[in-house]
Amino acid sequence: ESLDQGLQKTKESFLSKITKAVAGKSSVDDEVLDSLEEALVTADVGIETTVQIIERIEKRVSRDKYLNTSELNNILQDEIRGVLVDAPESNTYSFQSDLPNKPYVILVVGVNGVGKTTTIGKLAYNFKKAGKSVLLGAADTFRAAAVDQLTIWSDRVGVPIVKQDMGSDPAAVAFDTVQSGVARGTDVIIIDTAGRLHNKAHLMDELGKIRRVIQKVIPNAPHEVLLVLDGSTGQNALEQAKHFTATTEVSALAITKLDGTAKGGVVLAIANQFKIPVKFIGVGEKMEDLLVFDKHEFVDSLFS
Ligand code: GDP
Repeated sequence: ESLDQGLQKTKESFLSKITKAVAGKSSVDDEVLDSLEEALVTADVGIETTVQIIERIEKRVSRDKYLNTSELNNILQDEIRGVLVDAPESNTYSFQSDLPNKPYVILVVGVNGVGKTTTIGKLAYNFKKAGKSVLLGAADTFRAAAVDQLTIWSDRVGVPIVKQDMGSDPAAVAFDTVQSGVARGTDVIIIDTAGRLHNKAHLMDELGKIRRVIQKVIPNAPHEVLLVLDGSTGQNALEQAKHFTATTEVSALAITKLDGTAKGGVVLAIANQFKIPVKFIGVGEKMEDLLVFDKHEFVDSLFS
């Protein structure tokens, strides 16, 4: 799906809420700003980010007393873009670019069900399409289904996978994967991890152990720790981001399931509140449905 198609529901609700906020008004007064604030919060933009946006608009309104509501739309676009532009740079990424390390090791973390396995499959597809060799590591050994699903993706995309029996040590699988990747001269190694949230200390230990064994083979790896969040859960995704960033070092975010949800505003909240770039967004279940996140395109699409 394209970005515009993927964001269809978010766009519809976002624009209709904003249109309602300014309906029947000729100038931007406190009441309009209050309704706009409410509209942004209910569009899952999040309180903190909404307050920032509203404050910036208030400043502009006080500078230009004769601002009318038709101009408000443009200003809102500007300010939302401003909030995203202040977030770390993330739109220079491409699958075709040379990677800074070979092999380039990506550790993928996130709660079960958010679309971790699917995102790994999509990443593998994109890297392979760009001419890079890929190896998958099935280090979520707690659920048989996780290994099975990743195996299905490895077949579908046509990339090798390293796995062991269910219940084996996740760190041992990660170690095997990285060693095998080095031996094969693989460009990109993508490792799946278990994402149970009920025990934070255990998760932290486990991810720490996986990191350490990877570093036995490649000292500066993993080169990327990608946290996958389910955008359709709105503010829950924000909570998960808080939890994981407190548990482990996260270097990039993927936000999935933006198709079929009106909660896409959460991308703005996440990009603004975490000093971690949103690199990918998921807009469908197929391997083609992963997009490299570009904040300008995203804002353009919200308002188109
Ligand atoms: P995991 O438990 O985190 O590994 O989650 P899975 O990758 O198995 O995905 C859970 C469900 O979400 C599956 O049915 C996927 O097809 C679906 N899914 C994953 N990403 C997306 C997406 O971007 N859009 C949609 N609509 N579904 C998705």
